[in-house]
Amino acid sequence: AKAQGRAGVALFEQEVAQVAYDNLVLEGQLGQAIEQNEFTLLFQPQLRTSDQQIVGVEALIRWHHPERGLLAPDEFIALAEQHRLIVPIGQWVLAEATRCAQRWHAQGRAMTVAVNLSTLQFQAPGFVESIERLLRDAGLPTGWLELELTERMLMDDVPTVRERLHQLRALGVKLSVDDFGTGYSSLGHLKDLPIDKMKIDRSFVHELPQDRQSCAIARAIIELARGLGLTAVAEGVETGAQRAFLEAHGCHQLQGMGISPPLTAERLEAWLQQRAH
Ligand code: C2E
Ligand code: CA
Ligand code: CA
Ligand code: CA
Repeated sequence: AKAQGRAGVALFEQEVAQVAYDNLVLEGQLGQAIEQNEFTLLFQPQLRTSDQQIVGVEALIRWHHPERGLLAPDEFIALAEQHRLIVPIGQWVLAEATRCAQRWHAQGRAMTVAVNLSTLQFQAPGFVESIERLLRDAGLPTGWLELELTERMLMDDVPTVRERLHQLRALGVKLSVDDFGTGYSSLGHLKDLPIDKMKIDRSFVHELPQDRQSCAIARAIIELARGLGLTAVAEGVETGAQRAFLEAHGCHQLQGMGISPPLTAERLEAWLQQRAH
């Protein structure tokens, strides 16, 4: 039994070493992925319930890995954060999202573009200045850029966060609380922050309308958003029943597979075109 235990430990150590090695390789490749042009953005439409118009999109990053194929953010964002690579990657995302927004604007489509931020990126020195530069050079009407922050990010190191949010708001950036309901934010604190949107986490949307607790939570978040004068957005909307429930309870915007999966910029344009007819 003792020998077996030792063998088990050795095997475990081997696995740990393998994971560490894989991460090292992936990290090296991640560091080169921008210059190798391996990142791409998908865009998921956001539907306004009052008139069924697509009023915005959320940008979601993908990595075309040379050997592993298309990787979702879960497979590399954490690693990118550990090694601060998320800062240049986040800058690439912002630049690419801006290029797409410019094209859509030229096509006469007024859509907001929402970009996800990571903590390191938001807290990096010069972040607000980089957004200011980006907005100035983009030449788009104000209000087109939306930044999605998680509740946790809003709670960290409060004074700086607050200051940055106010600076961004003053630049005309819309601010959105992502995955709302899953974090630890105190409502008293949130009320003092310049927030425009609350995104109801998909874990609550998933069990609508059969699960009583999820219904109560979704309704409470919609009510809270409405009461604070904010836009309520439901994410992960998949079924007609979920959509009906959310619309009936006054949710302002819907996002999810039930409306459209995330699409490449080209496919999004074709989809919008088709939808208009
Ligand atoms: P998120 O911000 O909560 O994004 C929504 C996720 O839900 C996306 O996963 C989207 O593809 C997925 N989704 C959309 N519709 C449905 C649906 O109907 N049902 C279900 N179950 N899921 C749906 P994705 O693209 O894999 O992104 C995962 C997370 O990675 C995002 O979660 C976001 O936190 C992060 N992420 C994505 N792009 C970026 C980025 O450019 N920068 C940073 N820092 N994080 C990003
Ligand atoms: Ca998001
Ligand atoms: Ca989310
Ligand atoms: Ca999430």
